[in-house]
Amino acid sequence: MNDVASPGRPRILQVGRLMPSLEAALAENFNLRPLWREADADAYLAAHGAEFTGLVTSLWGPVDAALLARLPKLRVIAHFGVGYDALDVAAIRARGIPFSNTPDVLTDCTADLAWAALLDVARGVSAAERFVRRGAWASGGKFPLQTRVSGKRLGILGLGRIGRAIARRGAGFGMRVAYHSRHPQAGADYAWHATPAALAAHSDFFVIAAAGGPQTRGLVSREVIAALPPQAYLVNIARGSVVDEAALVEALVEKRIAGAALDVFEHEPHVPEALLALDNVVLLPHIGSATRETRQAMADLTLANLQAFFRDGQLLTPVEA
Ligand code: NAP
Repeated sequence: MNDVASPGRPRILQVGRLMPSLEAALAENFNLRPLWREADADAYLAAHGAEFTGLVTSLWGPVDAALLARLPKLRVIAHFGVGYDALDVAAIRARGIPFSNTPDVLTDCTADLAWAALLDVARGVSAAERFVRRGAWASGGKFPLQTRVSGKRLGILGLGRIGRAIARRGAGFGMRVAYHSRHPQAGADYAWHATPAALAAHSDFFVIAAAGGPQTRGLVSREVIAALPPQAYLVNIARGSVVDEAALVEALVEKRIAGAALDVFEHEPHVPEALLALDNVVLLPHIGSATRETRQAMADLTLANLQAFFRDGQLLTPVEA
C-alpha cells in the first residue's frame, strides 16, 4: 500500500482488524494504514509513527502506553465498540487525547442476545436441539423438564444502557427486576442492592451487563458466585474479566448453581474445557452486537466520529469519564 496515496488527508493508523466495509470507507475518506498487515509492525512504527494524527481500533486491537509512545502527534482515537477495555485509558488521558466509542447503536441487539441466551439456558433450547439432532427423541427419549422464566427474579449487574434494555425486556416477561450499580440510578423503578453479592442472593437470573476494565475485574468474585441461590442461572454478556471464571467453572461443575449462559470469556476465544461437557451451559462466541444492522451502524458511527473530529474538532460520541 502506498503511504502517500492521499497526501492531503489525515493519516489514520488502523491497529486491529475491522469490518472490510468499514476499512474500505475509512480508506476512501482518510489516508489509512492497517498496522496489522505490516510484517514488522515495530519497525514500521519506528519509521512512520510520527506521521499519524488519528487511530482507529476495536476490542481486537489493544492500545497501550508503548504504542502511544510511538505516535507523538496522535490527536484522536475512534473505537469500534462500546466497551473500550482494550484501551489503556489512563495512558490516553495522560496524553489528553480524546476518544470515541459506539454507544446506543448496539444496545438493543446486545440486550436481545442476553435474552436469547437466558431463555436458551433456562428452557434448554440448545440442549433440546442437540437431543433431536442426535436422534434421541426419534428413538423414544424424553427431554428432561426445564426451568420457568416468566415471573421470576431478574438481577442485573450494571444498569447502564444495555442493562436497562435487558430490564425492559424482563418487564415483558413479568419479572421482578433488581440491580446493582455503584449508585442507585435516577429514574430506575427497580430495587437497588448495595453490593453484587446482595443482588446475587436475590436473583433467579443474574445478568452481568457492567463495563469491563480494571475497575470491574473480578467484580463477580468467588463470594458473589457463592451467594447465588442453587436455582440461579448466571448470564454474562459484558466481559469475561468481570467474573472469576475459575470460581464460576467450579460452581457449575459442582452443580452449586443451575447453569450459565456465556457470550464472553476471560481468554477469548478459549473456553474453559470443563464447560464443553455441560448441557446446562450455553456457550456463545462473543456475538452480543453481531447483527448485520448493528455492526453497520457501529461502522457508520466510527467513521462519522473521525470525520467530525477532523472537520469540526469534535467527536460525536466522546467517552467523557
Ligand atoms: P454503560 O451504559 O456505560 O453501562 C455500564 C454499566 O456498568 C453502568 O451501569 C455502570 O454503573 C456499571 N459499572 C461500572 N463499573 C461498575 C462497578 N465497579 N460496579 C458495578 N457496576 C459498575 O455501557 P453499556 O452500553 O450498557 O455497555 C455495557 C458493557 O457491555 C460494555 O462495556 C461492554 O463491555 C459490554 N458489551 C458486550 C457486548 C457483547 O458482544 N457481548 C456488546 C456490547 C457491549 P455505575 O457507573 O452506576 O456503577
